[in-house]
Amino acid sequence: MHDLVIRNALLLDGTGAPARCGDLGISGGKIVEVGKARDLYKEEFRADGLALMPGIIDNHTHYDAQLTWDSLASPSPALGVTTAVIGNCGFTIAPCRPADRELILKNLTQVEGMSLEMLKAGTRWGFESVPDYFAMLERQGVAINVAGFVGHSSVRTYVMGEDAPRRAATPAEVAKMRDLVLEGVRAGAVGFATSTSANHNGHGGIPMPSRLADDAELRALAGCLKEAGRGVFMLTKGGRTQVEFLEELAAASGRPVVVAALLHNNANPRGVFDDLERIEAANARGRRLFGAVSCCPLTMDFTLHSPYVFEGLKAWKPALARKGEAYKAQLRDPGFRQSMRDEIRDPAAGVRLFNGEWDKVYVENVRRPEHRKWQQSTVAEMARASGADPLDALLDLALAEDLDTEFSALLLNSDEAAVGAMLRHPHSLVSLSDAGAHLTLFNDAGFGLHLLGHWVREKGVLSLPDAVRKLTAHPASVFGIPGRGKLAPGHAADLFLFDPARVGRGPKQRVQDLPAGGARLLTPALGVHGVWVNGTQVADARGARADLAAMKRLPGRILREFLS
Ligand SMILES: [Zn+2]
Repeated sequence: MHDLVIRNALLLDGTGAPARCGDLGISGGKIVEVGKARDLYKEEFRADGLALMPGIIDNHTHYDAQLTWDSLASPSPALGVTTAVIGNCGFTIAPCRPADRELILKNLTQVEGMSLEMLKAGTRWGFESVPDYFAMLERQGVAINVAGFVGHSSVRTYVMGEDAPRRAATPAEVAKMRDLVLEGVRAGAVGFATSTSANHNGHGGIPMPSRLADDAELRALAGCLKEAGRGVFMLTKGGRTQVEFLEELAAASGRPVVVAALLHNNANPRGVFDDLERIEAANARGRRLFGAVSCCPLTMDFTLHSPYVFEGLKAWKPALARKGEAYKAQLRDPGFRQSMRDEIRDPAAGVRLFNGEWDKVYVENVRRPEHRKWQQSTVAEMARASGADPLDALLDLALAEDLDTEFSALLLNSDEAAVGAMLRHPHSLVSLSDAGAHLTLFNDAGFGLHLLGHWVREKGVLSLPDAVRKLTAHPASVFGIPGRGKLAPGHAADLFLFDPARVGRGPKQRVQDLPAGGARLLTPALGVHGVWVNGTQVADARGARADLAAMKRLPGRILREFLS
């Protein structure tokens, strides 16, 4: 007798084929029947026409640190996600020598949106190497399946220590990095990830170590994947990295290359489409390149205590390095403000988060009663009303409130026609949730619900079967994840049951549930009815199962086998 049958569901099998009504039978964590279930089952779940699809594969997360204190990978399971790829952009916590732990966590503070205190209080260190890290996660258990990249910045720190964010590597250092990358990939990493993006800074504004790598270093490390005969090369590109160079890496290594982060920018509206065209041309030449795009508008909540939105600007550099009163004095400095304005206005500045769209920066919450009139105004409106320059208006308001004013900025991906075209592009990969990072700035862990609700139901930009394919079988094939991403006999019973008429995400909420009382943003799930990982239910209509943490053995696996 088999374990569970889900009866009378609208089956979306992940291949893009039209939906059909039927049953799905599970046994031993695997799918055994799809269509008309004939076998006997111990348990029955009546879907009553709800849609059943393979669980969402979230291919761009940053759960590396969080998973050491939160085996449940909150909030992803309640949002339909059954597999997460971690270590994106190369922001991992392994390998790491005991002496370098603080150094590694300092790299993560800015990009993950968590304070150093929080990361130190939360992170559990039972490992040094990448294989040790995977083994520790396996021992602790995990609620969803996890595939991990070897991360460039950690590898660089392991070899170069304090020098990692400061200089190019010597050939001997690159050789040591190669050994570590090969060790990780052979131990079951899904590939190698790195970043050359100027938005990626560590504690006090030091660049992420990978940003100091020259082309020779990137070529050498991509070469490890050729040598291992497996793995994806993932890169979040900054201005100096061109698609042509990434195509060269794909050609030399013979491995797939995922190019992130393709976010639409109103100040350079053709930019992402130029990249997608280059990616398309590379594919026509037989390379495997994918453009990682997001289905969510990139909105960030921020205060001037840690304004990630400005931290990628060169003119912001002097502020990044300062703390306390010296920092406030920097923000008051007219010369500093002028250099910010000049850079923001410069159309040749390249890829960046903030492009001077002051009409898309909102005053969310003020602290002082006399500023309440500005609440929910845009910075542009506030500047017009007070006859000030917008940057001055924003900084002066924040300074008058000890930097506690909360702002919300709609930064990128706000042009829906453009984003729709990116989502439909044949060589794009739906990605970039950044789950586990930027916790105080935004939370797109529910990107799959947004794709199904907004882009399928509300906008009609994608058909339901095609959207399901982009969340399941497509990422499974890009990352070579075997036996997942489809509803087919023999595949893992990673499943997501939802109501297509209601699926989506609710308004954001701020909660304080991180180590040391840290805050993060969450978006509640709408229309979710059930989520199963390897045949075990992890979430229902009320959210993640309450008894999940108490389970003897969590159902997720550390994925170590990938197709070449
Ligand atoms: Zn990332």
